Amino acid sequence: MKPMLLDGKKVSQKEKEHLTNQIQKLKQKPKLVVVKIGDNKASEVYIKMKERASNEVGINFEKIIFKEGIKEKEVIKKINELNKDKKVHAILVQLPIPKHLDSNAIINAIDDKKDVDGLKKTSNQIPCTALGVMKILEAYDISIESKRAIIIGRSNLVGKPLINLFLDKNATVISANSYTKNLKKLTKSSDIIVSAVGKKDLIESNMIKGKPIIIDVGINKINNKLYGDVNEKAYKKAKAYTPVPGGVGPMTVTMLLSNTLECYRRQINE
Ligand code: NAP
Repeated sequence: MKPMLLDGKKVSQKEKEHLTNQIQKLKQKPKLVVVKIGDNKASEVYIKMKERASNEVGINFEKIIFKEGIKEKEVIKKINELNKDKKVHAILVQLPIPKHLDSNAIINAIDDKKDVDGLKKTSNQIPCTALGVMKILEAYDISIESKRAIIIGRSNLVGKPLINLFLDKNATVISANSYTKNLKKLTKSSDIIVSAVGKKDLIESNMIKGKPIIIDVGINKINNKLYGDVNEKAYKKAKAYTPVPGGVGPMTVTMLLSNTLECYRRQINE
């Protein structure tokens, strides 16, 4: 049997319609501010996608751009202003940022209630990509309870929050990182494989056994084409999989919109 494609575009379109309806009923429009520092080309593309999606559902979008050499205190000063601005409900600092800046210091400057990507330990939001993974599983009625899941990658943005979300749903979780030995043995014995690494062909077909669910979070741009972490032949041995592009990517953008609405509600109480 052919593996089922978990269509992130379709699921996120439905979610966007739902969000549009909810936002129309509000007294004011939620506002999202994205802060970009430096000239990372990929970030430019991601920010454009976020702007377009915000416009689609009726979220006010603003982009603040700082030059590569900006001083940390200037960025933090701006974030403090945004924290105080009652018309701004959600703030996102687009990562990565230039190396001379301390990303922790900058992210920690964001007010907990406006930390739309949930990067601070003290904020309530769940990071958008991790939330997107959970939503796509939910949309296809894929239960993870009692399943053996391997989460490859342990970043604060994706891997770590996913570990907790999977544990909360009673999965048995294995976490893998660049120090993990014999990844193949672990993937072969997993019912669910989530790869959030950023290495094309990290997961090859000989690492897949027993028709698992594959969630490919990785994005690798090679000669202007996008690839995930999972090889095409490995997808074919899955029960279901998220493609790249069109899987977790669109879900991430839509969860940013949904988290913006959450941030708004925490502040406005509507
Ligand atoms: P990251 O911060 O670079 O983390 C990568 C993780 O992969 C690290 O934990 C690293 O382990 C681990 N790793 C590296 N090589 C490995 C190997 N050979 N075996 C097992 N683990 C290995 O990246 P990220 O921000 O989490 O993003 C991961 C990927 O997802 C990237 O391709 C990114 O572009 C993509 N992404 C996609 C979306 C989307 O919407 N689809 C959103 C965010 C990110 P160590 O901790 O030991 O270094």
